Amino acid sequence: MVSRVIPVDPFDLVIFGATGDLARRKILPGLFHRFAVGQMPEHARIVGAARSDLDRAAFRDLVGGSLLEFAPQASGQKGLVNRFLEKLDYVRVDVTGTKGWPELAELMRPDVIRAFYLSVSPTLFGAIADNLNEHGIATPDSRIVVEKPFGHDLASAKALNADLLNGFAEHQIYRIDHYLGKETVQNLMALRFANSLWEPLWNSTHVDHVQITVAESLGVEGRGGYYDRSGAMRDMVQNHLMQLLCLTAMEPPSRLHPNAVRDEKVKVIEALEPVEPADIVRGQYRGKGAADGYRDHAGDPDSRTESFVAIKVNIGNWRWAGTPFYLRTGKKLRARTSEIVVMFRDPPHMMFPKTEGLRGNALIIRLQPDEGITLRTTIKEPGPGGLRLAEVTLDMTFADALGPHAEAQDAYERLIMDVIRGDQTLFMRGDEVEAAWAWADQIIANWEDARQHPAPYDAGSSGPEDALMLMHRDGRRWREIEA
Ligand code: NAD
Repeated sequence: MVSRVIPVDPFDLVIFGATGDLARRKILPGLFHRFAVGQMPEHARIVGAARSDLDRAAFRDLVGGSLLEFAPQASGQKGLVNRFLEKLDYVRVDVTGTKGWPELAELMRPDVIRAFYLSVSPTLFGAIADNLNEHGIATPDSRIVVEKPFGHDLASAKALNADLLNGFAEHQIYRIDHYLGKETVQNLMALRFANSLWEPLWNSTHVDHVQITVAESLGVEGRGGYYDRSGAMRDMVQNHLMQLLCLTAMEPPSRLHPNAVRDEKVKVIEALEPVEPADIVRGQYRGKGAADGYRDHAGDPDSRTESFVAIKVNIGNWRWAGTPFYLRTGKKLRARTSEIVVMFRDPPHMMFPKTEGLRGNALIIRLQPDEGITLRTTIKEPGPGGLRLAEVTLDMTFADALGPHAEAQDAYERLIMDVIRGDQTLFMRGDEVEAAWAWADQIIANWEDARQHPAPYDAGSSGPEDALMLMHRDGRRWREIEA
């Protein structure tokens, strides 16, 4: 199946922090890919804005090098790369100072969409928003895109929202959670709301529990200092896992309108019940060799920051009362994998002889690797000799079923094109972020009061034993973490 490419309208996209890691690894390669497939119109332009002392030619050289390194489609495509580089301009600007802004204002064209991507530290958001307005660069229709982390807690998230709302209206603000740009995450909405098959089963009468796992095989080497001030709850649960939970649990929106979808997500967060301490497991990885554990990487032998967390969450509403959601994420686990598992209840009566090892119906929505959907069903074991049961999976890996287009588009490029189109559906609204922080803050405050140390777990394992127990004591088990 070949996906249709619909070009967006002409735009000026200014990337603040255009010489940084995120811009070079994700944003610019993503834009190049959109250009290569014909989604970027003739008159699109990308303006790099950063502190580095570069001119336009040096910036184009820098981006050319990044494309060769991070955009597989760029190799052997010199002509295409050069045509893309011609769209780039550069302005040197220290966003906390006054220099550079008039030059940027001068560059902006009338009558095209204006978007400002803030690929810089959140401490600079306020200064950028102010300067864009003071120098007349922002228009009432301009879009402003901001990156994670969106705050460290509720108070800091509110302060960031206030900084942005000082110069921009909520309908202009695009808070990125790149998980929402993943093909499977959007497919979750299509799967739930474009099929009549699932919705009647999507409730506590038929769903026993839901598991959401985001497992990483890497540790925090190289960014341990930053991570140690954050931890798995702030870095992953409050944002990415919360978004997955919301999309899985929300009521059908009345229409595919950004606010209709986001209203439903906020209702889920507001329905989350307080989490008991016994329903939380925190862990910290132990190294295989000397100086290879979390505390070594964090540079703090006494660190109490979690590199793993598992939480049992109850949603107090009509649809989900009695069906827990188990969330789990961590570093240095057995494999890098992200998935949502919807475990259905057993049939009310089993007429077949008991068969060991049957795990029941499950719908597994895989975000990585190999985005796709698997449905685990029970069938008769093939062959003569009586009727015995076995499990098979109906598997759909998008890349196999739909062709290479299905996975070729990175989350970032999809989201940037949504910004240009003015579609906020896949971006977090201010009140949504604040509601998620209010929930996370309460949990973090409880464990900080208790001054608990996270449970150790071996690098390359599935996390601490206690996390297994979190499920076992409810008569349930996690799906294995495997590549
Ligand atoms: P980085 O340190 O590699 O780059 C920072 C960029 O900001 C550079 O271009 C630098 O010139 C520019 N900059 C810094 N201070 C400036 C100033 N006063 N005026 C103008 N430009 C200034 O950082 P990064 O890794 O690219 O991350 C950027 C943001 O994106 C951060 O908030 C980070 O948390 C977030 N983020 C990064 C990643 C990633 O994979 N790197 C992933 C998710 C979110």
